[in-house]
Amino acid sequence: MAVATVVESKEWYLAAYAPENVPNSDHLKLRTVNVSLQHDSIPDQHVVLQVLLISVDPYLRSMITGRVGDLYMPPHPLNKVMTEFGMGRVIRSKSSDFSESDIVIYPFCPVAEYCVIPSNFLRKIDSTADIALPNYMSALGVPGFTAWVAIEVIGDPKPGSNVFISAAAGGVGMFAGQFAKLKGCRVVGSTGSDEKVQLLKDEFGFDEAFNYRKETDFNAALTKYFPNGIDLYLDNVGGEMLEAVLNHVNKGARIPISGMMSQYNTIPSERKGVKNLLNLVGKEVKMEGFLCGSFLDRFGEFLQQMETYLKEDKIKSKHEINQGIESFLDSFVSLFSSSNHGKVIVQVAT
Ligand code: NAP
Repeated sequence: MAVATVVESKEWYLAAYAPENVPNSDHLKLRTVNVSLQHDSIPDQHVVLQVLLISVDPYLRSMITGRVGDLYMPPHPLNKVMTEFGMGRVIRSKSSDFSESDIVIYPFCPVAEYCVIPSNFLRKIDSTADIALPNYMSALGVPGFTAWVAIEVIGDPKPGSNVFISAAAGGVGMFAGQFAKLKGCRVVGSTGSDEKVQLLKDEFGFDEAFNYRKETDFNAALTKYFPNGIDLYLDNVGGEMLEAVLNHVNKGARIPISGMMSQYNTIPSERKGVKNLLNLVGKEVKMEGFLCGSFLDRFGEFLQQMETYLKEDKIKSKHEINQGIESFLDSFVSLFSSSNHGKVIVQVAT
């Protein structure tokens, strides 16, 4: 049987910047390209990857506003294939470190079916370990690590601390809440549907949760759910929720800011201002924006802890797995609609 020398690959590329509103098919488009599998065409220290899983993350939004210095990632070049945290199977290798059929993780994985990539940032995973592959995109990937940095490193709550988490049923939120519960805290989450409120309480062990789309007076909601004030708030949404939290913080509270989902689709001049920052002073609150990538020196420690928690079933993971590369745009858009349950992942191949 003849060995294939070229393979067709569908890939998502950036056709136009989306300065505001939820991006759509005018901005992100699918095209088909040929990927050569011929040994001579693969550069040294490169591999050809068949992409299996793609993590769908809000940070992509910050790469497609077209504004330099806005949000927290530089603009993605037009016409170039999008990249994401992903996992794939090596199908050709010109690197002595990787062999065909190795399963690897690549933080800058093209959103494509196949790709030729340098081997220096690849991390091999033990696919025989008793860990389902999607966990490497969630619990053991960016969301889990971000949650760990927020709670274990920056937040460092004590047993009995009152912890609030927004976007609590998403990738980062679900793990953050469970980390805080493991530390003996009282944990409350906000999310965008009643179904997800139930999920937080029944599956992830949150003490309380509320639907911010129904309980729209955030000050009233926080008065109700935090009669003793808030000691730690993991901010995933910014805007009005952050402002409301600042009215309920206790002395010495900590606010790790992971991101601001409520502001990503808005141009800078129309974003919600937070008018009560003065509350930080009297209450001596520490508010800190962070990028998980700046804590990579602690990734090994995190992995060890998280793998143990997963094996012992102390931390649960929920994935929303959408099938096929075609589903990438809808998957991305779902991050802005409250329709996703847990970590959104695209399964490109098995
Ligand atoms: P996710 O929570 O799985 O998905 C985003 C969630 O945000 C949605 O499910 C939705 O849930 C909520 N949301 C969407 N629009 C909203 C709005 N207008 N107001 C309030 N909530 C809204 O995503 P994720 O990957 O775990 O990311 C969560 C946050 O962490 C984001 O801000 C992201 O940028 C940030 N992040 C930061 C780092 C870092 O290193 N700093 C790394 C990873 C992620 P609801 O049902 O609750 O509305």
